[in-house]
Amino acid sequence: MAQLEIKNLHVALEDGTEIVKGVDLDVDLGQKHAIMGPNGSGKSTLAYALMGHPAYEVTKGQILFDGEDLTELGADERARRGLFLAFQYPHAIPGVTVTSFLRSAINANRKAASGGEDDPVPIPEFRTNLLAAMEELRVPRELASRYLNDGFSGGEKKRVEILQMAMLKPKIAVLDETDSGLDIDALRIVANGVNKLVGPETGALVITHYQRILDYVTPDFVHVFVDGRIVAEGGAELAHKLEAEGYEAFGANGNGKVQS
Ligand code: ADP
Ligand code: MG
Repeated sequence: MAQLEIKNLHVALEDGTEIVKGVDLDVDLGQKHAIMGPNGSGKSTLAYALMGHPAYEVTKGQILFDGEDLTELGADERARRGLFLAFQYPHAIPGVTVTSFLRSAINANRKAASGGEDDPVPIPEFRTNLLAAMEELRVPRELASRYLNDGFSGGEKKRVEILQMAMLKPKIAVLDETDSGLDIDALRIVANGVNKLVGPETGALVITHYQRILDYVTPDFVHVFVDGRIVAEGGAELAHKLEAEGYEAFGANGNGKVQS
């Protein structure tokens, strides 16, 4: 049994339009998976549904985490079980600093882990870990005391998403186009962050439009995603085939849907 099991997942928008049309995918600890698909194919919809965003309704199928059905759980409960989503478009939270946001998130996870008892991370331990992670990910120190994503550049937002991931140490990290909008140095730092995190206790699902990040994060499995479905699967070599042949070779039209 894999840590994350997605079974025949169908996801619809609030108006009933079906976007994800039956996805089966297992992601286990220690594995790096890449979902590659054109714009508009439903990648973010899949990511939001995994995290429990209320605007995306699971109409059929299941999401299992460590064997437990998450489908009816809220995003916070999923996070506490060890599922993490780095957003394609991170939201700003004016009034909440990066530091206090991270500390609250860690403490919520610790509380859940200790069966509902408060068990806050000691401040010195938190500071040491935060400074080490920021140094590693080359997040400028001054960002820690700024409001989360408020006025951050695109690259800063993405790095702070990876900082959250490094601090929260999820079991399964889903990264939705964390590579888009990054220059090559930032891309390397983000990729290193993913590579360091994935190990015996963590797996990753890297969602991307481009092959570029996969030059730095070598996936064990590549899933080609067109019009809400996985249409091809393979190893890292599939990413190179895609780069050479484009999504049209997999039936996509210009809108991420299938040609009609
Ligand atoms: P991708 O991430 O692969 O680019 P998305 O999941 O963002 O694709 O979008 C898939 C389709 O669903 C698109 O046609 C998009 O316009 C539509 N869509 C996604 N979310 C919403 C929403 N909240 N409201 C309306 N349409 C949406
Ligand atoms: Mg998207």
